[in-house]
This record gives sequence, C-alpha cells and structure tokens, in this order.
Amino acid sequence: MAVPTNGFAVGGGSRCVLAVLGFRSPDPPSFRREPLGAVRAIGVHEDVIVVESRVWRTTATVVRSGAEAFVIDSPVFPDELELLPALLEQARFQFSGLLATHGDWDHLLGRLAFPGAALGVAETTAARLRAHPGAAQRALRDFDERHYVARPAPLALGSVEALPVPGYCALGERELELHPADGHTVDGMAIWIPWARILVCGDYLSPAEIPTPEASIDGYLATLTRLEPLVAAAEHVVPGHGGPIDGPAARALLREDRDYLEALRERRPAAAALPAGRRDAEQRRLHAANVARLREAGGP
Ligand SMILES: [Zn+2]
Repeated sequence: MAVPTNGFAVGGGSRCVLAVLGFRSPDPPSFRREPLGAVRAIGVHEDVIVVESRVWRTTATVVRSGAEAFVIDSPVFPDELELLPALLEQARFQFSGLLATHGDWDHLLGRLAFPGAALGVAETTAARLRAHPGAAQRALRDFDERHYVARPAPLALGSVEALPVPGYCALGERELELHPADGHTVDGMAIWIPWARILVCGDYLSPAEIPTPEASIDGYLATLTRLEPLVAAAEHVVPGHGGPIDGPAARALLREDRDYLEALRERRPAAAALPAGRRDAEQRRLHAANVARLREAGGP
C-alpha cells in the first residue's frame, strides 16, 4: 500500500474501495490546501484500479504492466479527470497511454486528464470518429451546458491510433487482448487483461443499465456470445457503467441480458419485465427507446 503523503489515500490492495480526496494549492501558492473533490477508486488487482464517475457510474480502468500503464475510458466530471494523474502517481503507476472501448463521448475524455497522450481505439471506433468529426465534442458541450459544468479546456482527441481487433496490444512486458464488441454502437472493443483475469467490456454487462442495442440487436447478442468464454474465465468484469463486478455476477448479468434481448427481438411481453435491479424510471425509459428503435427498424 502506498503511504498517503500529499492528501491522497490510494493503494494497490485487492477489492478495497479507496475514496480518493485531492487537494489543490490555491493560487498564488501557499501552504494552505483546499479540497478539490473526491473520486471513487477501487483496487481490483495489484495492477488494476477502477475509477467510477459520479454520473452514470461511468468507469475508467487503469491497468499496469511493468513501467507502463494505460487508462481505459474516462470519468466525466472535470474534478474526477483532474485527479486521475495524481491517482496514478500515488499508486506508482507510470502513465503511458489512453485506450477507449468505444466512441461514445462519455468514454473519450481521457485527454482532458492527460493532454497530448495518444488514444488507442478499435479500427471500428477510429472509422466512426473519422466519419463524425466533432460529434463527441458537441455531445460533451450539450451535457456541460445542460448541467452547468465548466471545463478548463475543450476536448481534442489528438492522435487517434486505430488498433486491429481482434488483436493484441502490448503493455510493458505483457499483452492485452482486444475483442470486437459492437451492437451497443457500431464500433467498439472489449479488453481482456489475461494476468488479472479482468474483462473491461465497454457498454455491456452493466449492473446499472439494461442493454441498449443502439446499432444492432443481433450484433449485441453476437457480442455477448463472443464475450461469454471470457466472462466464464473472469475474476472481475468492468462494465462501462456500474463499477467492477465479480465473475458470478457478470455471468448472471450475461444470462439476464441475453434473455431480455431475445424477448425484445421476438416482441415477447417478457421483455417489458425488466431484469430485477434495473427497473427504475430511467431503465423503463431506455426500454421504451429500445422498443421504438426496433419498431423503426421494421420487422413484425
Ligand atoms: Zn457509455
């Protein structure tokens, strides 16, 4: 465990929830320190820390191998992003680059924390970002305006590196496995961390959110089938929304999500009975959107 030295309480340990409190020196510098904010960080493995945003429980996963560490996806609020570099420093993770599971704007904000860093994405995501230049920035601006959020700098995605998926991505002496994960959106990848047996899967298997097959319900189901052996082998799964979950919980979610989507696809009323724990007003709204999308796409 790292010894808190500068106002941060961060450590490696397994399955421990670490509330990270940051401090910022006032300007002009003085010895007085003011609270900056807090971010929820969870150590799931000695090489893996998950940060959960206060909005939508959006996750960012920091994974280390040797003297390198990647940040996968991003938290959303400026104070959460601002704390990320210090979180890595305190955990003794040396930042080396950004990855994003897919091209939805709320997962693409890493460069606000690490300006100048390269962003690695699946080829499908790179193609989506190229096809819709500025879309992520516009969506971010809409969110910020709606919630009165001020940011110190605008988002620039910088150099986006297209990674072949399926494939491997070197990190230190080891390799991350990249698996296609489309259906929620037209693009995306799930990242398997073999030595930690952790799957970072993007917007699938969320304990907080029902499946949202925005691109394709068949594609979404195919992704669940593709992820199934990884989920079966996983110690933990980190969905894009809802913090890390253990293997048995992820396997149960996969079954629930498949049942829900199959019922939805076949227009069975069972789909309206949303999975237990995901039936609140927002989930019912997402379900209505799923039904409407399916109706628009035609079919029986
Ligand atoms: Zn998302």
